[in-house]
Amino acid sequence: MDVIIDELKNKCHNRLGRNHFAVIFRHKKLRWNEKLAFTMNMAVQRCGKWTIHAEEAALKKCMDNNKKAKSLKIDILVVRLSKDNTLGQSLPCTNCVNFMSKIQSTHDIVIKNIYYSACCGTIYKEKFCDIANSDKIHPSTGFCRRPNV
Ligand SMILES: [Zn+2]
Repeated sequence: MDVIIDELKNKCHNRLGRNHFAVIFRHKKLRWNEKLAFTMNMAVQRCGKWTIHAEEAALKKCMDNNKKAKSLKIDILVVRLSKDNTLGQSLPCTNCVNFMSKIQSTHDIVIKNIYYSACCGTIYKEKFCDIANSDKIHPSTGFCRRPNV
């Protein structure tokens, strides 16, 4: 896991306001070179000003890259990095968790574990189903500003 975080820090060195990253791995194969998808949160400007969260973008990318994959089991790593490369709280927001649940029900994908960074610099691991059923998740302020929702 440390190797992956270092890799993210290197990748994201010169980023501009992009501080939220998601990497998708095959379940239990958390190796950077074998990742299925990697995204940063990005502003979608052509249809107004909101951001697609990294988790959501990574899942979409993962599905595009693995259209023919059957029964894909995945682990998702979500990391927030500040400008000085310290880890921040990145538990997926309600919107992203709902999106993940939807993907599971409509695609042949099972989300096993979510790894997320916390303010103290640790990476936590939780089962997706536990997160989806917990009251810890919260609506993100970015998402609340999104139109048509
Ligand atoms: Zn989110």
